[in-house]
Amino acid sequence: MLVIPPFHSASSDSLLEASDSNLESGLTAAAVAARRATYGWNRLPLKPSKPAWLRFLLQFHQPLLYILLMAGVVKAALGSWTNAAVIWGVALLNAVIGYVQEAKAEGAIAALTKAVTTEATVRRDGQVLSVESEELVVGDVVLLTSGDKVPADLRLLRVRSLQIDESALTGESLPTEKMTAALPIETPLADRSNMAYAGSFVTFGQGTGLVVAIGSATEVGQISQAMQEVTLTTPLTQKFARFSRALVYIILAVAALTFAIGLGQGESWIDMFEAAVALAVSAIPEGLPAVVTITLAIGVSRMARRHAIIRRLPAVEALGSTTTICSDKTGTLTENQMTVQAIHAGGEHYQVSGGGYSPEGEITAGDGSALDSSDELPFALEECLIAGVLCNDAHLKPVDDHWKVVGDPTEGALLTAAAKASFTQAGLTAGNPRLDVIPFESDYQYMATLHNAEQRVIYIKGSVEALLPRCTQSLNSRGEAVPLDGAAVQQAVEAMTSKALRVLAFAKKTTAPHQHSLNHSDIDTGLTFLGLQGMIDPPRPEAIAAVQACRSAGIRTKMITGDHITTAQAIAQRMGIHQSRHVQAFEGQQLAAMTDDELGRAVETGDVFARVAPAQKLRLVKALQSKGEIVAMTGDGVNDAPALKQADIGIAMGRGGTEVAREAADMLLTDDNFASIEAAVEEGRTVYRNLRKAIAFLLPVNGGESMTILISALLARELPILALQVLWLNMINSLTMTVPLAFEPKAPKTMQQQPRNPNEPLITGRLLRRILLVSLFNWVLIFGLFEWAQAATGDVAVARTMAIQALVAARVVYLISISQLGTSLMGMLRGQAAGANTPFLLLGIAVAVGLQVLFSQWPAMNLLFETAPLTGQQWLICLLPMLPMLPLAALANRVDPFT
Ligand code: ADP
Ligand code: MG
Repeated sequence: MLVIPPFHSASSDSLLEASDSNLESGLTAAAVAARRATYGWNRLPLKPSKPAWLRFLLQFHQPLLYILLMAGVVKAALGSWTNAAVIWGVALLNAVIGYVQEAKAEGAIAALTKAVTTEATVRRDGQVLSVESEELVVGDVVLLTSGDKVPADLRLLRVRSLQIDESALTGESLPTEKMTAALPIETPLADRSNMAYAGSFVTFGQGTGLVVAIGSATEVGQISQAMQEVTLTTPLTQKFARFSRALVYIILAVAALTFAIGLGQGESWIDMFEAAVALAVSAIPEGLPAVVTITLAIGVSRMARRHAIIRRLPAVEALGSTTTICSDKTGTLTENQMTVQAIHAGGEHYQVSGGGYSPEGEITAGDGSALDSSDELPFALEECLIAGVLCNDAHLKPVDDHWKVVGDPTEGALLTAAAKASFTQAGLTAGNPRLDVIPFESDYQYMATLHNAEQRVIYIKGSVEALLPRCTQSLNSRGEAVPLDGAAVQQAVEAMTSKALRVLAFAKKTTAPHQHSLNHSDIDTGLTFLGLQGMIDPPRPEAIAAVQACRSAGIRTKMITGDHITTAQAIAQRMGIHQSRHVQAFEGQQLAAMTDDELGRAVETGDVFARVAPAQKLRLVKALQSKGEIVAMTGDGVNDAPALKQADIGIAMGRGGTEVAREAADMLLTDDNFASIEAAVEEGRTVYRNLRKAIAFLLPVNGGESMTILISALLARELPILALQVLWLNMINSLTMTVPLAFEPKAPKTMQQQPRNPNEPLITGRLLRRILLVSLFNWVLIFGLFEWAQAATGDVAVARTMAIQALVAARVVYLISISQLGTSLMGMLRGQAAGANTPFLLLGIAVAVGLQVLFSQWPAMNLLFETAPLTGQQWLICLLPMLPMLPLAALANRVDPFT
C-alpha cells in the first residue's frame, strides 16, 4: 500500500507526499503504469454468484420437476426401470436446457451492461484527461463535478459547494456537504466530510480529490464485493410464474380426482397412476419458461443492435406498451451540431456564414454587407466573441478534413464564431489566464469564469432569462457603457428564437483585484450586457421520421427542454411534434404555478415544455402517469434521476449525460438519438407479440393432450398417449418448434397499431378462444386417430405412435400459420411479393421432423418411448390431418390475429 488509512485524519499534504503526487500536475504516465503493474486495476472483483452446481440444482426447483422425479421413483419401485430412466433422463435434459439458456441470457445481458463504462476526469502530467475509472491508481488527482460517480475513495483536496449523495454507502439519503480540513481520527464514516467514497454520486458543485484506495480496498469494496446482479425476472415472467403455479394446483387436483374415480370404477391403481401422471405432465407447458427467457434475451440483443442498451429487463416489456415519450430536445431530437448564425451586440445585428465547426465563414452586418475591413471590429461585437471564447470549456480539434468539438457543442460553436473573426482560444487564454470557473448547470442556466487580465474580470454566459436581470448596463458598439435597453434585447431574442436559433447571452463584470475564486453571489448584480449569439441546431432527419412513426403507432412525443420556449416551438414545428394545428407550448414557470388538475390538462395538450427545471420533470411524469400514460422519459443531468426512476422507462444518454442519470435509467442510448427510442419500442412490441405467439402455439397441444387423457381415463379406455410420450412432445418437440418463434422478425405493421394496454391479461379472451379451438381439434385428432388405428391394427403401440405423428404433422401447419412465414405465404397467394426471413423456423421444423422419424423408426426410441415403426401407408395417414388444419388455422388467425 502506498498510503495507509485512516485517511480522514491525515493532512492532505502528507497524503500527497506519501503518494508522491502533486495537486497541480497529478501523476506522471510512468508512475501510473508502474503502480498499475504493482497494485492492479480499480475494479471490484465480481461477486461470486451462486456456484454452477447450485444453479443447476435450482433448475429442479419447479412443481413439474417434483412430479416427474416422483413419477420416476414410483415407476422404479414398480420395476419399470426403462420408464423411470427415461423420465429422469428427460427431467435432466430439461434442467440442462434451462441452465444453459439461463446462463446464456444472463451472460449476454451482463455483457451489455458492462460495456457501458464509467469515466473519470484526472490530472496527469499536468493535463486534464478523461480516462476509464478502472484505470485509476492511488495518487491520481481526480476532478469531480456534479453528475459524476465517485470512481475511487478520494481524500478531498479542494471543494466548491461540493455535495455528495452517499446513500449507497451510509443509507443517509440527504447529500452531504464536503470540506477539506483533516478530521479527528474517531469520526465515523458517515461524517467524514473530507472524503469522497467510491460508488457515491456528486449531486452538486465541484471538487478535486486524491485517490487513496482503489478496487476492493475501497470502503464499498470492503462492505460487499457486490456488483449489481443481473435478474431475468420481469412482470411478465412473474405473471407466467403465477399462472403456472395456479395451473399446477388445478392439474394436481384434477389428476387426483381422475385417480380416485378410476379406482372407484375398479381400474388397477397402476393404470390410474399412469393416467394421473400423464395428465399432470400433459397439462403443464414445460417449454414455456425457456421460450420466455430466450425471447426476452433476443429482444435485448436486437435492441442493442439498434443502439438501445437495456439495463433493467422489465423495460423490454414496458417499451411495448409505451404511450408517451418525453424527450430532450438538444442532441436527442436535434443533431447537437451547433453553428452560430446571428449575433446581436451593441444594438447592431450581425450574420455569420459557414457551417460546422471549421473556422471558414464570415461575420457580416445584419443586411449582409461586409464589415468595414480596414477598422477593427465594433467593440461590443468583439467583447461578445471574446466572452464566448474565455467563458468556455470546450476545444476544437481537427479530425481528417473537418473540425470536431471536444466538450459541449454549444460552446464549440462559440469558438468557431470567434475564430471566424480571427480570435483564437490559445491567444485569448494566454492573455487572460483563468483563475476560477462556475461550470454550466441546467438549474442555473449560466456559466461564469474569473480571469486575471489587467484587471480581474468575470465573464458570464447563459440564458437571457438568467443573465438580463443581473445586468445594469450594456456596451454600445463604441465600447461605452450605456443604460440597458431590455426591450430591444428581448426583441432581438424573439427574432432569433423564432428562427429556431438557440440563444446565449453574454455579460462581464470587473471585480476586486485580489479576488481568486468565484461564487454564485459574485454575479448576482452589476453585470454589463455584451450581446447575444444565436446558433442553429438542425433537427435530426431520422428523428423526424421516428416522431412520425411513433404518431402512427399511437405514441405521442413531447419535447422537454431547458431551452427558450420560442426556439423549442420552432424546432417542434419543423419536426411535426404537434398534435393539433399549432405547437402547444408551456414554460416551466407556468407549470410551477399550476394545480395538479391544471397540470394534468397541460400535459395532455402540451407538445413542448420549455425552460423546464430538472426538478419539474418528476411532476410532469407523475401527471402523465396519473392520466394513465405509460411514459418513457429521457434525461441527462444529475437532477433528472428522480424523473428517470419514476418514468416507466427512464432513458439516459450513453455518450453525453451524467453517470447519475445513467445509473437511474432503465435504458441507455448509445447514439443519444431519439430514433433509437422508437426502434426500441418497435422491438419491445415484437418481443411481446412473439411471446403471445409462443403461448398460442404451445398451449393448444397441452390442451389437446390433457383433454384426451382425462376423457380416455374417465371412459376407462386405453390411454391414446403415455406419460413418457407426452414428455417427448412437450419438451423435445415443443422446444425445437417454439424457440424459432423467439427469432421471428418484426411484422411490417408493428408500428401502425395502438400501444398495448399494460393491464391486459396475459391470456386475453381472443387468445383463450384460439387456444380452445385448436385444443379441441387436437383432442379430436389424437383421440379419433388412436381409436381408429387401434381398431384397424389391433396394436396399441402403433396406434399411439400414429396419433402422435399426426399431431406433430398438424402442428407444423399450425406453426407456419402463426409465423411471419405464414403471413407472407398468405400475401403471396394474394399476389403480393413478400418474403419472410425465417431461417430459424425452417430449421426448427426440419429438426422436429427428423426427430419424429427417429421417434418411431429407430428401435432404441421404440424401446424407450414405447413407440412402434410405421409403414409408408401409415405415415401417409398421419399426414392427412394437415389438410383440415389449414382452414382451422385460418379461422384461428381470424379469431385472434397477430398483426
Ligand atoms: P437543453 O439541453 O434542453 O437544450 P439546457 O439546459 O442545456 O437545455 O440549456 C438551457 C439554456 O441554457 C440554453 O437555452 C442556453 O441559453 C443556456 N446554455 C446552454 N448551454 C450552456 C453553456 N454551456 N453555457 C452557458 N449557457 C448555456
Ligand atoms: Mg443541454
